[in-house]
Amino acid sequence: MKAQLEEMQRSALDEIQAVSSLRDLDECRVKWLGRKGALTDILRGVSSAPVEERPALGKAANELKIALTEALDGRREALESTEQARDAEENRVDFSLPGRRPRRGHAHLISQVSEEIIGIFAELGFKVAWGPDIETEYYNFDSLNTPAEHPARDSHDTFFVRPGVVLRTHTSPVQMRVMESVKPPVAIVAPGRVYRVDWDASHSPMFYQLEGLLVDEGVTFADLKGTIAHFLRRFFGKDCKPRFRPHFFPFTEPSAEVDMTCTVCNGSGCRLCKHSGWIEILGCGMVHPNVFRNAKYDYERYTGFAFGFGIDRIGLLRHSINTIHHLYENDLRFLEQF
Ligand SMILES: [Zn+2]
Repeated sequence: MKAQLEEMQRSALDEIQAVSSLRDLDECRVKWLGRKGALTDILRGVSSAPVEERPALGKAANELKIALTEALDGRREALESTEQARDAEENRVDFSLPGRRPRRGHAHLISQVSEEIIGIFAELGFKVAWGPDIETEYYNFDSLNTPAEHPARDSHDTFFVRPGVVLRTHTSPVQMRVMESVKPPVAIVAPGRVYRVDWDASHSPMFYQLEGLLVDEGVTFADLKGTIAHFLRRFFGKDCKPRFRPHFFPFTEPSAEVDMTCTVCNGSGCRLCKHSGWIEILGCGMVHPNVFRNAKYDYERYTGFAFGFGIDRIGLLRHSINTIHHLYENDLRFLEQF
């Protein structure tokens, strides 16, 4: 029996030393010290041995148990430290590797241009006003003195949501909404999206417009000219000259279209300006008495001017871009240039 114990100790210790993973070590522990393990069998055998041999056998079996437990614990420690070392090596952080910089975005060209335009008018005392994209025919047309038979009211030009309700075709309805809620003096600019049934290189069915309105006692056409000229010089540079041509709009009287000296050729003539030296830039005029009447303003006492232009168009002209659609295609190669 004693020889059996010695033999068992030798082979168990060899096996423990040979184990190469913590998982195998657990299996090894179960095999030798577990409840159904080899040593348990021996200890059970002690009780059936002759009485005089029992103490010595029991002692030897206990010593074996202690020896195996120590060997298993020692091996566990050794395996744990090598596994930790391997783990640390595999997951090592290399602080010398270059970092990955997050891509930084910036405001869209249209946002940049709108903010700049609003800034210029804010210096003159204009406040920003907003109105809904979906507008009633009353605000979009009737209140602005546009008669029912006007061609702009045709479904060939205007998106109808349902009878009486349209996608606004200009930012002018904001004028009326502001005048209904505020008494003069009024000085506002209203930027926003507008919609028209139109699609070619220089037209998009949705684009951005900015509307301006100033109402007070004694406002004249000279104030309008001065304001527009100041804006164009601030935005396009001090050499930019405006030219006013008589025009017709239902909501202003008199009305004018404004051209400015071509940004590409500076007036000498090029393809962009069709060799005229001038580029059409905005529409404007003195507010029509009928519009004041609809707003319940005293048109004997107050006068005012209004103007409107495409924010996209002004941005395109500044950067000499020829198609409006670049602005809405979200091609980063284009947008990152601004
Ligand atoms: Zn030109």
